[in-house]
Amino acid sequence: MVDFLLSDIQREIQKTARDFGQNKVAPKAAHFDETMQYPIELMQQAWELGLLNVSNPEHAGGLGLGTFEGCIISEEMGAACTGVGTAMDANVLAAAPVIVGGTKEQHKRFLGPMSEELTLAAYCVTEPGAGSDVTNIRTTAVRKGDEYVINGSKMWITNGSVANWYFVLAYTDPEKQHAGMSGFVVPADTPGITVGKKEVNLGQRCSDTRSIQFDDVVVSKDHLLGEEGQGWFIAMKAFDKTRPKIGAMATGLARCAHAHAQAYAQERKTFGKPIARHQAIQFMLADMVRDIEAARLLVWKSAWEIDAGKRNTKSAAIAKLFAADMAVRVANDAVQVFGGYGFNTEYPVEKLYRDSKIFQIYEGTSQIQRLIIARESFAGR
Ligand SMILES: Cc1cc2nc3c(=O)[nH]c(=O)nc-3n(C[C@H](O)[C@H](O)[C@H](O)COP(=O)(O)OP(=O)(O)OC[C@H]3O[C@@H](n4cnc5c(N)ncnc54)[C@H](O)[C@@H]3O)c2cc1C
Repeated sequence: MVDFLLSDIQREIQKTARDFGQNKVAPKAAHFDETMQYPIELMQQAWELGLLNVSNPEHAGGLGLGTFEGCIISEEMGAACTGVGTAMDANVLAAAPVIVGGTKEQHKRFLGPMSEELTLAAYCVTEPGAGSDVTNIRTTAVRKGDEYVINGSKMWITNGSVANWYFVLAYTDPEKQHAGMSGFVVPADTPGITVGKKEVNLGQRCSDTRSIQFDDVVVSKDHLLGEEGQGWFIAMKAFDKTRPKIGAMATGLARCAHAHAQAYAQERKTFGKPIARHQAIQFMLADMVRDIEAARLLVWKSAWEIDAGKRNTKSAAIAKLFAADMAVRVANDAVQVFGGYGFNTEYPVEKLYRDSKIFQIYEGTSQIQRLIIARESFAGR
């Protein structure tokens, strides 16, 4: 039997995340948007509440919860501030390849500290010349005895300047294309690492996005995840765990935009009645409710699949694609409902509109999600 009800534990997690989101994060969202400061105190509070990296395995000191529970948290953060939510989920994105490709010993070593104190991490795959086309990366890791020497430049790295360690994708054998890539955990204080300036982005402005340069950065061979040549698979498999969470965060943002639009529509009067009583506005609000509900169900299905040990590459791409496009549409309509006030920084929906756009870009653009869905469908999956 299919059960759409959350368990007691899941409802408890949802309540904790919602209280934190609405009481601590949302009141500061405009401030962090304006100042573009990294929300370190909120990250600390999120960690203390046990809301960070909830899927880290129990043998590494983590809670061992599923992607589903992670999605519940991401939706609540999305409804509060996606800048903070992205900072939190960047940690999950960095940990995912370690969970997927690391040994139990590596889990303990690299993920264990995340349970002892606030420990931040970043996922370093994209480069100035390679985003969607991951095989075009130029970073290399050359084996020298018991060590690897890493050289290259990464771009658009979330949590770049605050991370304690990086997951880094590099070529160990460039001739072999994606089968020649390897994944490493690189401590951020390793000599040879230079972190670039904070990028000033359209939205989610408190999230820390940086370039990172690796010049003769040496790590011992036990920082390699899995075996040489497995890096691409590990980096992509990680998305099966994290794309549902991005879909969930986009759903939360849309939920927030709808709530603002609905409240405003009941207050604002034109032609002698609240605009909520004009059918054109009602239809916009109704479409929002429909699409938010649909996105949540797609997110939950893909999260449930991976937690049940099923292949979810297609459903994760569908959930991320639908929720991202939906969030942009809903935020756009929310601005429309607010009219001129929607275009102004004194009102909350312009931030949501700016914040929503990145969902169609990071963790694979909406075009790349469509390619994945087509590929999986052609393969009969
Ligand atoms: C705020 C922010 C945070 C980010 N955080 C991280 C991070 O933490 N770690 C990380 O590794 N990366 C991160 N990224 C990078 C992000 O994942 C890439 O920007 C994204 O994958 C797109 O790559 P690109 O920018 O190089 O665009 P390109 O790959 O150059 O694409 C440009 C356009 O062409 C389209 N396109 C490309 N190829 C195809 C195709 N085959 N068919 C159809 N259309 C295509 C794309 O969809 C896009 O519209 C972040 C980016 C941003 C902006």
